[in-house]
Order: sequence, then C-alpha cells, then structure tokens
Amino acid sequence: MTTPPPSQTRVPLMSLDDAMVNLLAHAGPLQATETVATFDADGRVLAQDLVSALQVPPNDNSSMDGYALRAADVTEAGKVLPVTQRIAAGHEGEPLEPGTCARIFTGAPMPAGADAVVMQEDTVEVGGNIHGVHIQAVPQPGQWVRRAGEDVTRGAVVLPRGERLSPASLGLAASLGLARLNVVARPRVALFSTGDELVMPGEVAPEAMKPGAIYNSNRFFLRALLHRMGCEVSDLGIVPDQREATLAALKTAAGHHDLILTSGGVSVGEEDHIKPAVQQLGRLDLWQIAMKPGKPFAYGSVKRDAGADPAAGEACHFIGLPGNPVSSFVTFLLLVRPFLLRLQGVDAVARNAVRLPAHFTLSKADKRREFLRVRRNAAGGLDLFPNQSSGVLTSAVWGDGLVDNPAGSTIAHGDLVSFISFADLLA
Ligand code: AMP
Ligand code: MG
Repeated sequence: MTTPPPSQTRVPLMSLDDAMVNLLAHAGPLQATETVATFDADGRVLAQDLVSALQVPPNDNSSMDGYALRAADVTEAGKVLPVTQRIAAGHEGEPLEPGTCARIFTGAPMPAGADAVVMQEDTVEVGGNIHGVHIQAVPQPGQWVRRAGEDVTRGAVVLPRGERLSPASLGLAASLGLARLNVVARPRVALFSTGDELVMPGEVAPEAMKPGAIYNSNRFFLRALLHRMGCEVSDLGIVPDQREATLAALKTAAGHHDLILTSGGVSVGEEDHIKPAVQQLGRLDLWQIAMKPGKPFAYGSVKRDAGADPAAGEACHFIGLPGNPVSSFVTFLLLVRPFLLRLQGVDAVARNAVRLPAHFTLSKADKRREFLRVRRNAAGGLDLFPNQSSGVLTSAVWGDGLVDNPAGSTIAHGDLVSFISFADLLA
C-alpha cells in the first residue's frame, strides 16, 4: 500500500454549520472601545448599554393640529367652546379652564386639565365677540394625545451593549440627548491578494494584458465589504510570490491588525506561499467546507512579536478565502461577516432567510449545500442566474440574494426555497 503524497490527501468535508461554530469559537470580542460623535456612529456597535436619563416624549403632547379640551365637556357633536389660548410646539400653555379649549399644534405640550385633542378637520371656527369653535365629533379621553414616556421611559435600557447602530438608532440616541456614544473599536483588517496571474486595473491596459493574466477583482469587493462591516482596512495589495516577502508582510501586519484576510491559494495541495508562511508564524487549518461555491477556506492565527500592540492580544486572526471571485464573495458574506460582527461584540449573527417560490428548476442535485445566485421577480418568485460557476461574478451582480439549497436537493418550479437577501448580508 502506498501513502498518497500530501498534496493528494483527502481532507474530510466540514459542514458549513460546523465551520461557522469553529470560526465563531475563535472570535472573542475586541476589548478596545472609543467614543465617537453620534453623527458618525452609523454601523458601529455599542460598547455599553444606553440607559435613558429622561422620558421621551418629556410630557403629554398633541399629535395633531387642533383643539385641546376636556373630553367630558363635549358629550354631543356641535358644541361650541371658547378658545382661550394658543399653544405652539416648544411653548408651554396655561392650565385649561373647564368649558374652554386651547388652539394646539402638533408636538405642543397639553395644557394641564386637558385630556383630549379634536383635530382641526373636525371643527369649524366661529367668529363674533368670542373666538370659539364648533366641535363636530365627540372626543374620547386620550385621543390624539402622545403620552409622556410612551416612546422611552426614564431608566430604561434603550439599546443594549452589542447593538449595531442603524440610522434609526442614531435618532433614538439623539432623542435621549446623547451627542457621543461609546462604541467598540473598528476591527483592523489587513487585506492581501495572492496569485501571480493578478494585475491591478489601471496598471496594465486590457489590450496589453499577457496571456493568463487577469485583473484582481476580489480586492475591490473585499475592501468594500470590509468597510461596510465597520472595519479599518489596510490594503496590502498583491503579496509577491516569495517566501521572505510573505513572511515579512504577515509579521508586520500581525502587529497592528486584528485580522489578516487573504484571497486565493487555499485549495488543497496548492503550491502557494501563504500557507507555509502562516504555519511558520502561527498556525493554519485548511477546511474543506461542504458548500458550493466556496469549498476551500482557511482559518489560523499569526503570533505577534513581544513589542506589538498589547491591546490586541497575543495573536492576529488569519482567514484565507478561496480565490474564485464568487466563492470569495459568498464565503465572506456567510462566514467572515458573522466573524467580524462577533469581533465587535454582536451576539445575534444569524442570517435571515425567507421562504419564496422558485420560478426555475434545478434538475441536477449537488452533493454539497449550494448557494444559488437568484433574483426576486415581480411575481413574488425567484429567477435563477443561468451560469452558477464560481468564477462568474456577473451572477452576484445580477442576483439580489442566494437560495440556500440543501445538499442532494433538486428544485421543481414552484417549490418553496430558502432565500437570503444580499441587502440583509450587506447591511
Ligand atoms: P486559487 O484559489 O488561488 O486557486 O484561485 C482560484 C481561481 O480564482 C483562479 O482562477 C484564480 O485566477 C482566481 N483568482 C484568485 N484570486 C483572484 C483575485 N484576487 N481576483 C480575481 N480572480 C482571482
Ligand atoms: Mg492562486
């Protein structure tokens, strides 16, 4: 019996769920925090609970332009009440005398004694000696009144630590009077591309490209994806195909980054320089994930020198993505994204999936769990991009999401399938 050479050793396939569990087990939250202006906190993750020091709204106020009154004063439609005051938003009225009403505007505080608002559309002004209004609809107590504290009560945890801030949450934080927020530091990510065939757009004109050369596309979407995930990116370009240069690049990057992310060169048995270099400086596990696209994937770490940034722990994470553009894109969204969220202290990293009808057929089942590039159509179903090759980046641009198709499954027209939208994964 002969032992196969290492390059042909079969690595057992790992399920995507196991890969996720393994990866997240390494993603301890970053300890560094910083205080940023609420204006600049979109997409950042709260480092501490936001507790409200006040109630919102601060007092009962009108949700309509109209007349504030006591509901008990108008038991039938058509009653005329004198208008004794006018209260605009930002101004305080006088206590309301029984049998009178106050002209009031949206957002203005309710005067003491009033318990309802009649909207202006349900009134008719009456002139003459007294300024009054016909109330044409019988008010219910509490109608068109926004209660003090109905949005936020004093002392409430409005947003918990670990919450990723959205535009709406910035508004909510501002409504509590918070001009600055304590957030988790941005993950610092060093990005490398590997592959001697790669050329940067702008460096060589299309007509001058050598046979076998291709433009580096992964670098562009990976950098953009990292930015969307709130990372500070050091783009280290294409690492030269030399052992010493690779070692030097990894060593320098490890000292000042939380993650080194590469694409390409993680297929089993590939003669590449990243793998032995990472192994020499730390450790590297090559995973074969039972998914399509995106089978090869590497996770490891690079040790830091004693003099490196002490805040960053003793090792820098390393993730090696497959080189095929769609594999790289999909594994980023499905694995690196939750990893980066966890580094920032976000607990809930699960993907949202919805069931939608397939408006296509998939007659050939794959042994691996497949993530098909699809697009929602106007009829509420999903269309399939015809070429699902992992090199065809057009599929990811045409598509607006992925169908998560279990291993060994065909799809018939009309079957309900699990759809994950890119909009959710890119947010
Ligand atoms: P690899 O994973 O290095 O074996 O690469 C798999 C395929 O992806 C090959 O066809 C590579 O040319 C291609 N590839 C690798 N890196 C990139 C990149 N940065 N941009 C575009 N294609 C790439
Ligand atoms: Mg390669």
